[in-house]
Amino acid sequence: MQDISSIWQQVLEKLELRVSSVSYMLWIKTIKPIEIDESDNFIVAASSVSAKNQILRNFIDKIGECCFEVVNKPLKIVVLDPNEEIEYLKNNKVEETKTEAKPEKNPFVEKFTFDNFVVGKSNQFVYAAARTVAEHPGKRYNPLFIYGGVGLGKTHLLHAIGNYIREHSPELKLQYVPFENFTNDYISSLYSPTKTKSIMEFRGKYRNLDVLMVDDIQLISNKKETQEEFFHTFNELILANKQVILCSDRPPKEISTLEDRLRSRFASGLIHDIQKPDIETRIAILHKKSQLEKYYAEDEVINYIAEHVDTSVRELEGKLSEVYFLATLSGKKVATMAEVEDVFSNNMEEMKNELTPDKIITVVCDYFNTSYQDITGKKKNKEIVEPRMIAIYLISEILDLPLVSIGKLFGGRDHTTIMHSRDKIGEELKVNKKTQTLVNEIKNMLKSV
Ligand code: ADP
Ligand code: MG
Repeated sequence: MQDISSIWQQVLEKLELRVSSVSYMLWIKTIKPIEIDESDNFIVAASSVSAKNQILRNFIDKIGECCFEVVNKPLKIVVLDPNEEIEYLKNNKVEETKTEAKPEKNPFVEKFTFDNFVVGKSNQFVYAAARTVAEHPGKRYNPLFIYGGVGLGKTHLLHAIGNYIREHSPELKLQYVPFENFTNDYISSLYSPTKTKSIMEFRGKYRNLDVLMVDDIQLISNKKETQEEFFHTFNELILANKQVILCSDRPPKEISTLEDRLRSRFASGLIHDIQKPDIETRIAILHKKSQLEKYYAEDEVINYIAEHVDTSVRELEGKLSEVYFLATLSGKKVATMAEVEDVFSNNMEEMKNELTPDKIITVVCDYFNTSYQDITGKKKNKEIVEPRMIAIYLISEILDLPLVSIGKLFGGRDHTTIMHSRDKIGEELKVNKKTQTLVNEIKNMLKSV
């Protein structure tokens, strides 16, 4: 099995996409993986007793689900608080993680191949360009610039190019780098005590290549010094007919503060976008994933998910795995519409009878780690205002209380203020994915109070 820190790293990457950023920062990122024991218990440590409780209450299923996706077998997640952790370490001999470098390790995700990429109208052009570049690096489209929304397969294609070249032309020197890492690499060489040497090493690493792939290049916009360095790296490679491939969530003309000289260079090769898949492609992708990941599901399930999730491929996959995971929990081998109903419904009616405004406020406070007093008080800082608006929204939506009474709960605020908060969150929910996740998480917490 892979070592525990690399497993946990992959689990974190998945979790980051499935919980709100607040929860991720507060409760998930602070978890420390300890070990996976012989009985398939995944032992992890929370940073405090209350963190442990939060995790058990809200995230344990999601963590289990993501672990399952990474190791392909069900693990029981055991969460320890700090005291239990000390006790556990005392009683069990936890093997040190081996940190020896494995230089030959494939830097590309093995599953991200051309074969595993489903081609449809939305991505066929980009797919063909990526294949051409992989077959003839430096000869055709240079640079190749791919852009498109999140979760549509850009990173997958970069890795597919990498895997392909690695297999067919192993003598070529490749480098895949998220722009963020390029920046960090550069900055740390600038601040290194042996600055000149480090910069030389940095340049050696990035300029001495046959193929350079840079992911999320849009992040270049707010990094002036790095832009300059990247400009030179880029020019040197292109002049030497070395292949450069760039991915971005938007076209060069929309990357603000990108210097014009770079903008025109980026657009000097082939630039093309990848779009959201249509329904036929979504169905094909789900069938492919179901077969690759062994997420067995009835056709009806696949069709339902394909029809109802049209945002990104990542979401499609996420829903399929959620549904399948739920099925395995009840001992089924194939996911059915019963699990679909569970995953897609978020029924507020049932909750209504047991909830009071106080309970909602308390849960919201719990979620954001703020106090009841602050949230119902006068403070105007952002950390308080957002939870307050969300509490107001939820009370109004779930309990349907008159605005004036809600105003009273919140320190005698005027009903127009209450209405404003309610509508603001209502609007956010239509357009902002983060707010959606956040509100859903709180609703889930409300179900279990
Ligand atoms: P991006 O980099 O555009 O945000 P990713 O490349 O990370 O998106 O893709 C997100 C997930 O969707 C990955 O698991 C990837 O394998 C999958 N995916 C995206 N497009 C396709 C496709 N056409 N066929 C198969 N899987 C895809
Ligand atoms: Mg990506």
